[in-house]
Amino acid sequence: MDRNKNKPTVMVGNGSMNYPAFHARSIRQRDAYWREQAQRIDWHRPFHTVCDTRNPPFAEWFVGGQLNLCHNAVDRHVPHRPDQPALIFVSTETCTEQTLSYGQLFVEVQRMAAVLRAQGVGRGDRVLIYMPMIPEAVIAMLATVRLGAIHSVVFGGFAAHSLATRIEDATPKVIVSADAGSRGGKVIPYKPLLDEALHISKHKVDKVVLVHRGLSPAGLVEGRDIDYKQARSEVMDQVVPCVWVEATHPSYTLYTSGTTGKPKGVQRDTGGYAVALAASMDQLFCGQPGETFFCTSDIGWVVGHSYIVYGPLLAGMSTIIYEGLPIRPDAAIWWQLVEKHKVSVMFSAPTAVRVLKKQDPDCLKRHDLSSLKHLFLAGEPLDEPTAKWIGDAIGKPIIDNYWQTETGWPILSVPRGIDPSLTTRLGSPGFPMPGYDVRLLDDQTGEELTEPHQKGVLTLQYPLPPGCLQTVWRDDTRFVKTYWSSFANRPVYNTFDWGLRDADGHHFILGRTDDVINVAGHRLGTREIEEAVSAHAAVAEVAVVGVADELKGQVARAFVVVRDASRVADDAGRKALEAEIMQTVDQQIGAVGRPSRVYFVNALPKTRSGKLLRRAIQAVCEGRATGDLTTIEDPTAIQQLQDAVLR
Ligand code: AMP
Repeated sequence: MDRNKNKPTVMVGNGSMNYPAFHARSIRQRDAYWREQAQRIDWHRPFHTVCDTRNPPFAEWFVGGQLNLCHNAVDRHVPHRPDQPALIFVSTETCTEQTLSYGQLFVEVQRMAAVLRAQGVGRGDRVLIYMPMIPEAVIAMLATVRLGAIHSVVFGGFAAHSLATRIEDATPKVIVSADAGSRGGKVIPYKPLLDEALHISKHKVDKVVLVHRGLSPAGLVEGRDIDYKQARSEVMDQVVPCVWVEATHPSYTLYTSGTTGKPKGVQRDTGGYAVALAASMDQLFCGQPGETFFCTSDIGWVVGHSYIVYGPLLAGMSTIIYEGLPIRPDAAIWWQLVEKHKVSVMFSAPTAVRVLKKQDPDCLKRHDLSSLKHLFLAGEPLDEPTAKWIGDAIGKPIIDNYWQTETGWPILSVPRGIDPSLTTRLGSPGFPMPGYDVRLLDDQTGEELTEPHQKGVLTLQYPLPPGCLQTVWRDDTRFVKTYWSSFANRPVYNTFDWGLRDADGHHFILGRTDDVINVAGHRLGTREIEEAVSAHAAVAEVAVVGVADELKGQVARAFVVVRDASRVADDAGRKALEAEIMQTVDQQIGAVGRPSRVYFVNALPKTRSGKLLRRAIQAVCEGRATGDLTTIEDPTAIQQLQDAVLR
């Protein structure tokens, strides 16, 4: 196939085709539809099978095809747009701006790849990336897939213990890291956390490549740590060709929380991911080559992987990498960047908008936003007042989109690139995206709910479209058990979200069916936080629940039974222990997992068979009725909770 084309002619809809018909075709004529979409990608060797469904619930996409993600994101654009910015790095933390054109990115990625290759990194090896939002983080991701290796980015906000768990699971050959990040003007050293994680971890890495930003002193461990600046200077002109990999070859793993304490390594393929992202850039985000995409997430999350790094670069767009807060130096900063870089598509989270809402509204009016076509929001429920407020403030369409780390790209949204007449509805993320066969099922009977406004579990029919998780890293059993075993005899993927559909086909998400909570768009397992709280020696028992919060959507609250009640006999004792427990969570997970409050009680509400009554705890915290408590073992436990919360 011709490798030099950038924008193939594929059926993307032109407004003449109505969306339900377009979507139905993507399901009924699955292979034909995805064969067309696959033309958006350069294939080194063409695939022979669009989707291999011989081994459900596993599915293999574009079997027989060979490609390279880095080639598609970088190399193929160089002849057409060598001088166009590829990465625009803006740090309001270090007051730095740096632009790398596609030509420069092509060279830098090869330098990083040369450094990694010199450390023995090759096809199938894991490279763990623990970095702040700096260009080298994106360059390391691209260099890894260039070599046919698999990256595993760990969010920079995670502390040593969480990092160690991920190192043990991913067993990387090399880790790429930095001396420090910065948040709100405060330097956050990374290297000591990494050293501690490597000390705790049973898996020992051969090499650490360290990017020294000069923010924090970071000693190098002899024989293990390599200074990137030095190593780079030795490989300035090295050419590192792309390693062609099978379409089914993993490109990365990314850890996400579930109901157990152990995070799952979501494993993504290469070919399916490239095709799905390229299609979404056009059909949903309406992003065109040469335009600028600004996604305010972090490369440590799936939104960052898909829409800071791969999506925009696959589309030949310029992508902004932003290190900093949305309100520093003031709440105009993002809009200033929109004006300066003529951003055409922006992608953020409802929490960030709620943060802006508390600031001077004039900040949103100061800059020329005429280049901006849409603002996309995702990661957590988008409440109506927030959607309305930002829509009115910037005068642009606000497009909600619902998806998960597992799926890699939106399940529900409003793909106006296919049908510009599609309408949004406040409170609804929209319609199933092409390829997603969404069904609402009764949680008890598994029966499909086809009438409007029936609440059911949102599920996806087999096979999942390209780009979704292949499996859980090194744990096929967990993949099948977790996602595909909720409904006997039905090969359906459980999202663990409640949903409903209205009469016009708009879908609504009504919260999780499991014990996972969502804090400021970040998914956290209550079990994971409970384990971190239990690491404090004073804790005998703990329950963590997610409670509605005006700013962050939800926050975690912990209820603790202590070993020695005298420690929490008075206010001073309670305050001191609460602070210690929060610090323990900071050390175990990182501030991202810290409960907003820790309450002390003598007993937790449980059923007579010992099951924690989480919904009742949550109801008490949110000031709601607790519902049926006939199975409760100790009825005074609820009163204790109420007293603790009100104290
Ligand atoms: P994560 O994998 O961390 O992105 O979290 C995915 C979960 O976040 C989903 O299963 C939903 O519970 C929630 N979520 C993501 N996007 C939305 C959205 N647009 N509306 C409602 N909930 C969302």
